[in-house]
Amino acid sequence: MVSKTMEELASLCKRRGFIFQSNDIYGGVKGLYDYGPMGVELKNNLKQSWWKSMIYERDDIEGLDATILTAPDVLKHSGHEDTFSDPLVDCKSCKSRWTVDQLDNQSCPNCKSKDLTDPRPFNLMFKTSIGPVDDDSAFAYLRPETAQQIFTNFKNVLDSTNRVLPFGIAQIGKAFRNEITPRNFIFRVREFEQMELEFFVEPGLDDEWHKYWVDSRFNWWIDQGIDKKRLELHEVQKDELSHYSKATVDIMYTFPHGKEELEGIANRTDFDLGSHTKNQGDFNISSKVMKNKKSTTKLAVQNLANKNWFIPYVIEPSAGVERGVLALLNEAYKVDEKNSRTVLALKPHLSPIKAAVIPLKRNNEQLVEYAKFIKSKLQKLGLGRIALENSGNIGKNYRRHDEIGTPLCITVDFETLEDKTVTVRDRDTMKQQRVGPEELIKYYQKYFE
Ligand code: ATP
Repeated sequence: MVSKTMEELASLCKRRGFIFQSNDIYGGVKGLYDYGPMGVELKNNLKQSWWKSMIYERDDIEGLDATILTAPDVLKHSGHEDTFSDPLVDCKSCKSRWTVDQLDNQSCPNCKSKDLTDPRPFNLMFKTSIGPVDDDSAFAYLRPETAQQIFTNFKNVLDSTNRVLPFGIAQIGKAFRNEITPRNFIFRVREFEQMELEFFVEPGLDDEWHKYWVDSRFNWWIDQGIDKKRLELHEVQKDELSHYSKATVDIMYTFPHGKEELEGIANRTDFDLGSHTKNQGDFNISSKVMKNKKSTTKLAVQNLANKNWFIPYVIEPSAGVERGVLALLNEAYKVDEKNSRTVLALKPHLSPIKAAVIPLKRNNEQLVEYAKFIKSKLQKLGLGRIALENSGNIGKNYRRHDEIGTPLCITVDFETLEDKTVTVRDRDTMKQQRVGPEELIKYYQKYFE
C-alpha cells in the first residue's frame, strides 16, 4: 500500500525529520525544501546507490564533480539561453501572471478575463555575478542541469583516463530552475539535485545504446524498491523534444498527485559536444549544432582505423534526486492497521538508520555502556548510521523507528549483562528473537546482502 495523499506523506516527512519547508521561520520560500536528519541520510543513500551502480559496479564510467556557477558562454552554446524557457501570459485585467498550460479555456484562472497578453518566453535560469563588480561582464548562471560541465570536461577526462568509446561520465549535484509554479511538495522545486550520466558512443550505435540505458534505468528503479506497476515508459513526441534531443524516453511514476516524469533518457546526439567545439568545419556533424569560435577545444575523438576525427554521440539518463526520494517514500509508506502503526518499508540500503540500539532502562550505566559497545561494533561495518536510543521507552522507540524505516531494533536488557544476548526486532515482521554477539553481526549483515 502506498500513501493515500501527498499531505499524508508531507506530514510524516516533517514529523520525523525528513523534509522541512526552507526558511520557514520567516514564512518559507516556495519551491525550496531542506532535508532534516533522516532526509539527508535517505538522500545520501539514494545517491550512493546510483553512484555504486554507475561507477563501482561497471568499468566504463568515470565520476566528476564540477562547479555550479557556469560561464554564460557555456549556456549560450548549449542552447539554454535561447530555448530554456516557459511561455508566460499576463492578465491585463487583474495583472496576474500564468503559464500557458495553466489557462482556463484561454481565460485567466483568477478573474476569468480573456484580455491576456501574447505568450512571452520566460527563461528559467538563475543569474548571479562573480567578483566584486556587479555588471554585465561579471554575470554567471547557476547551472540548470549538471550535464553541461560534463561536456566541457569531456577532453580533460578523456586525456587523464585514456578512455576509448563507449564510455561515460557521471555526476551528481545541484541544479537550479526558476520554475514559475513550483508544486506538489518536492516534485517540482527551484533547487534540486540531479544524477546524470553522459554516455559517449560512436554515431550509428546511439539508438542501440539508448535502448540499453532505458532498460537499465527502468530496472534500477525496481531494484530500489519501486513496484513495476507504478512505473511506465513514455516516448516523448517529436514536437515536445528538447532542442538537443533526437529521441527521449521518460520513466514515469505514479506519484500521489498523478503520473509524471521521474527520469528522462535522451539521445542528445552530437549536439552538445559539437556546439562546444571550435572550428566545426573539420567535422561531419549534425546541422543542429551551433557555430562556436570562442571555445578553445575540439571535443572529438579519433577513429583509430581511418585516423578521422569525429564527435561522439551521447546518451543521457538524467534522474532527479528529489523525485526519486518522493517516489521511494511513497512506495515505502504503509499503514499497518492490525498493529496500529505506520511503517516505512524502505529497502535496508536506503533506510536512514540501519539499526537502533536501545538500552531497556534509560541512563542505566551498564546497559548504556553495552549498547554503545554494540553500536560502535556495527558502525564499524560501514553500512550506514547506527543510532543509540537512550530514552527508555521501548514501545515508543519501536514506533519511531518503524516510521523512519529502520530495519532492525536491538534491545539491551539485564540478561544481556549476564550472557551478552540481545533481543532483535525486525521492522517488517515485528518478529523478536534472542541472539548472541556473533549471531548479531551475521543477522545484521543479512539485511544488506
Ligand atoms: P519536467 O518536464 O517535469 O519539467 P524536464 O523534462 O524538464 O522535467 P529534465 O530537464 O529532463 O526535466 O531533467 C532531468 C530530471 O531532473 C527530471 O527527470 C526530474 O527528475 C529532474 N527535475 C527537473 N526539473 C525539476 C524540478 N523543477 N524539480 C525537481 N526535479 C526536477
